[in-house]
Amino acid sequence: MAKEKNTIPYKIYLTEEELPTRYYDVRADMKTKPAPLLNPKTLEPMTADELETVFCKELVKQELNTSKRYIDIPTEIRDFYKMYRPAPLVRAYCLEEKLDTPAKIYYKFEGNNTSGSHKLNSAIAQAYYAKKEGLKGVTTETGAGQWGTALSMACSYFDLDCNVYMVKVSYEQKPFRREVMRTYGANVTPSPSMTTEIGKTINAKFPQTTGSLGCAISEAVEVATKTAGYRYVLGSVLNQVALHQSIIGLETKKALEKYDIEPDIIIGCAGGGSNLAGLIAPFAGEKLRGEKNYKILAVEPASCPSLTRGKYAYDYCDTGMVCPLAKMYTLGSQFIPSASHAGGLRFHGMSPIISELYEQGIIDAVTYEQTEIFDAAEKFARCEGILPAPESSHAIKAAADEALRCKETGEEKTIVFGLTGTGYFDLKAYEQFNNGTMSDYIPTDEEIQKGLDALPVV
Ligand SMILES: *Cc1c(COP(=O)(O)O)cnc(C)c1O
Repeated sequence: MAKEKNTIPYKIYLTEEELPTRYYDVRADMKTKPAPLLNPKTLEPMTADELETVFCKELVKQELNTSKRYIDIPTEIRDFYKMYRPAPLVRAYCLEEKLDTPAKIYYKFEGNNTSGSHKLNSAIAQAYYAKKEGLKGVTTETGAGQWGTALSMACSYFDLDCNVYMVKVSYEQKPFRREVMRTYGANVTPSPSMTTEIGKTINAKFPQTTGSLGCAISEAVEVATKTAGYRYVLGSVLNQVALHQSIIGLETKKALEKYDIEPDIIIGCAGGGSNLAGLIAPFAGEKLRGEKNYKILAVEPASCPSLTRGKYAYDYCDTGMVCPLAKMYTLGSQFIPSASHAGGLRFHGMSPIISELYEQGIIDAVTYEQTEIFDAAEKFARCEGILPAPESSHAIKAAADEALRCKETGEEKTIVFGLTGTGYFDLKAYEQFNNGTMSDYIPTDEEIQKGLDALPVV
């Protein structure tokens, strides 16, 4: 199907001047707000004072904001953004041709920076506020390593110490990520470690453990709260992260408007929910205000299906149960997903904002299995050129399926999806896929129930 290509360019770029100057907080347009974080001991809503023992002051303010629609992006953050943003919105002409679809497909590519994903958008903001508060450094956890890499870059830019607790299995299996972080000056510790109380406890209880994200979070929080001049930062799930990631959606919207393009369907992969929350924010806002009606789709791995098979309830964010309780779609903090390669999508819970939007029916959700994701990733790479991250490939797969549906119905829908990152550090997984040794795993109802049975009673 030959489509005329002279009206819309392959890549829609915004100029530096068009880079958004304000973040947008979708909570301002939600009639029912996401539920507040609760103190795990008292089960009362976390106060700013309590949160400030863990997070920077300005970030606490952002976390607790529910009414202020726009928040200025400080010049220092915008200056950093200018080094790798605005990110292009790409018209997937080649993919459309391959799928032989009348649909128009666009993707917002966030992989054009060394860390390779959208996570840098929030890392630089969090590092900036930490520096501005006069802190010495920050602690965090990382699973597959994307967040740790992004934070290392951000901390080196603002000259902050960066202590990363990296899930042990990734620390051992992903030496390249680890070395990128160390190159940017971060201290990387395999988790569980013997440097924290919770790490020692878990090592004593499970000597063979290869770690988990929930455990690494507990370690990072413990160190931040016990060390003067340090605070903890997190790369997903939190409201503040969703706020920073709104830059993705704001740019996307501006780029579409430049060419009078009206999207019908907006799709993002969902791990902790931050890129999705950011991409859809201005569109969900229009939907909440009754101005537009888009189909908004979250895509999860079938191996870790928090929205589609989890429960909307208060839960711990970490295994050690030291973090505040969040109301979210969750599989339970004790749920251990199978060793899926989409490492960034393995968190047991989902952003409270995304959870509440899903609960309100503003967004829908679907799941896919690993091998079909890699199949879509490979098809995409072969025509669009970019080697996608496995996480991002969930959105590719969903977008391709929507486009194929258009082929059946003859509808010329406009589909926009988030291509959150590159797959350069996921070649072990691509190797398995290419060798035909990759398998799929869908948790049984019993396994899901076991996770849900362990939810705290609130
Ligand atoms: C971390 C990551 C994700 C998932 O995180 P969200 O908070 O759900 O956005 C998706 N894609 C890539 C490339 C990632 O690194």
